[in-house]
Amino acid sequence: MELWFTEKHTENVTFSIKVDRQLYCGRSDFQRIDIFESKEFGRFLTLDGYMMLTEKDEFIYHEMIVHVPMAVHPAVKRVLVIGGGDGGAVRELVRYPSIEQIDLVEIDRQVVDVCRKYLPQTASRLDDPRVTIYYEDGLKFVRTRENVYDLIIVDSTDPFGPGEGLFTKEFYGNCYKALTAEGLMVNQQESPFYPVDAIAMQRAHKRIVDSFPISRVYQAHIPTYPSGHWLFGFASKKYHPVTDFNDSKWETLGLKTKYYNTKIHIGAFALPNYVKNLLEEV
Ligand code: SAM
Repeated sequence: MELWFTEKHTENVTFSIKVDRQLYCGRSDFQRIDIFESKEFGRFLTLDGYMMLTEKDEFIYHEMIVHVPMAVHPAVKRVLVIGGGDGGAVRELVRYPSIEQIDLVEIDRQVVDVCRKYLPQTASRLDDPRVTIYYEDGLKFVRTRENVYDLIIVDSTDPFGPGEGLFTKEFYGNCYKALTAEGLMVNQQESPFYPVDAIAMQRAHKRIVDSFPISRVYQAHIPTYPSGHWLFGFASKKYHPVTDFNDSKWETLGLKTKYYNTKIHIGAFALPNYVKNLLEEV
């Protein structure tokens, strides 16, 4: 009998991956956690039935959520990652020797434990000595921090369930306060393509625009997310993501990447007209 993972992307569209076997199925205090193995995408993690990452395409998401801000801010020392219990963002961050401290705030300890066991490709660098993991709600964690971080990465689930609070105005305002005077924040900001996702994207964008002096959106192609067209928010107190971007400085670091490069960096901020219109509407 064939086994397929199927996610509903809209009322009329589903996305399916043929599965070889299910490696893990469990329920934490926050969500249902599944790990599957497939021929096409390798192992993949779903939470409450929604795709989080696959071994085949996670490099796109994690490189774009980390290297874009790291290439703009000239001196990142302290980083806060909210969500991201799979460890993919941390894996990319620990490649920068200049980073001294990485605080990972993941609400669900079980996600981290399961990823350590079944997804070593992403979770293997969580033991770096610069990394401290806090098993807390990111919304509460940032309330108590002021002028601490150079970079905040919001690597959250979608704006419902435990991730809902990470798309609120209160949360973005507290991230602003938790950042240093030159700090910046990036977040995963949903897809512009299907109206159901675009509404959440517009809402998040409006709240970030209201909270930060500089706010831009950039994009990447992520095959296993709804429509494959994904957006990230870039919010900053001082640095502009394109005009303050020093491509030759980043290139001298000699980091090998599979998706990100300095031309992609510039191009990712050039948005299709329909997306520009959606952002202007807010
Ligand atoms: N790349 C993924 C995506 O866009 O689908 C996100 C993956 S990552 C596994 C998201 C993590 O955020 C989950 O492990 C979830 O438990 C965590 N999370 C959700 N709400 C949170 C909150 N309020 N505070 C901290 N972590 C949270």
